[in-house]
Amino acid sequence: MTSAHQDTASTRSGPPAERPNLLGMTPAELGDAVGGHFRDRGQPAYRARQVARWVHASAARSIGEMTDLPLAERDALERSFRFDEPVLDTVSVSADGTAKHLWMLRGGEVVESVLIPAPGRLTLCISSQAGCALACRFCATGWSGFGRQLSAAEIAGQYRASARWAGERGMGNVSNVVFMGMGEPLANRGAVFPALTILNSGYGLGARRITVSTVGVIPGIEALTRRPEQFRLALSLHAPVPELRRELIPLEQRYPLDQLITALEAFNRGGGRRVTFEYTMIRGVNDDPALLPPLIDLATRVQAFVNLIPFNPIPYVDWRPSHRERVQAFRSGLDEAGVPVAVREPRGRDIDAACGQLRATRYPAQRTRSKIRPQRISRSQGKGRSELRLYEK
Ligand code: SF4
Repeated sequence: MTSAHQDTASTRSGPPAERPNLLGMTPAELGDAVGGHFRDRGQPAYRARQVARWVHASAARSIGEMTDLPLAERDALERSFRFDEPVLDTVSVSADGTAKHLWMLRGGEVVESVLIPAPGRLTLCISSQAGCALACRFCATGWSGFGRQLSAAEIAGQYRASARWAGERGMGNVSNVVFMGMGEPLANRGAVFPALTILNSGYGLGARRITVSTVGVIPGIEALTRRPEQFRLALSLHAPVPELRRELIPLEQRYPLDQLITALEAFNRGGGRRVTFEYTMIRGVNDDPALLPPLIDLATRVQAFVNLIPFNPIPYVDWRPSHRERVQAFRSGLDEAGVPVAVREPRGRDIDAACGQLRATRYPAQRTRSKIRPQRISRSQGKGRSELRLYEK
């Protein structure tokens, strides 16, 4: 009898509650949670501001390093909160200075981020999901399948740990953050949206220096449009006509190009917020001169800046980058039509630079678990449609 009662009680109480991670809290959430914690302990209100400074304006790695808190308060904070960054697994540095990091997350998932130095700026590309469910054919992450959503703490933690790594090596401050690593950020809005707030107002990056990249999740674009901050948006376009786009990006079946462009026009609000088109140029696939007029038309409608990106080869398809002359022909055509355009030179080619490729090289098991295979979708559009899942929150 006693034993049965104990079993029931222990089942009811469940496992101990997970301590929340300070890195995943927006400044307001941090003020509430940590402020409440100190208030309950009879501590002054400024303690929460001290903690916020340690989180957002220092390179401290642990609560134990928050030396302007009394020792007893550090211990109490530690009992109630975590302060964990992703754990560095591998660093790969290119001859051109590009540095790719693999981060080990709780549960064994591994994600990538990339630091890209350029004159006057240091851009950090971060991941929002472990793997990706959207199966774009040109993308190494797309071939790996979906692992899980990242939390806001894991997203902001990539920034914090990368910024410290860059600072320790004299690379300067991270000036720009782009959500162009593993995963579709607008399919993980539950974590990405608070992470945007944390990067913007916690770390003070500034919304115009933060770019969310999407293959076209319309509800996510609409949600970003409703936010008051001036975050940048990049659309992975890669084809200006629906038939070809469907071949490259299965999500086109769910969110067709014409509806996507309408959503982008609303986002842009007549030039208020810049949209960038990413156009990976693949030889013989999407570099036909006949595609230039529809590309110019779409870019003109949303006043987009166009980035032409020579394809970075991946092991899963035998595609090659477009010839240089073809890339230049697209650049000139856009330029002459008044569309702002740049050719983005590939960086870090010597370090498995394509998104998801370093992880696939180092952790091959994390690229073979998906039921959704890009090739399979391409061969059977109908089947692909029913299997395609966004894993949206
Ligand atoms: S391009 Fe982006 S959305 Fe498409 S499979 Fe790769 S990570 Fe996912």
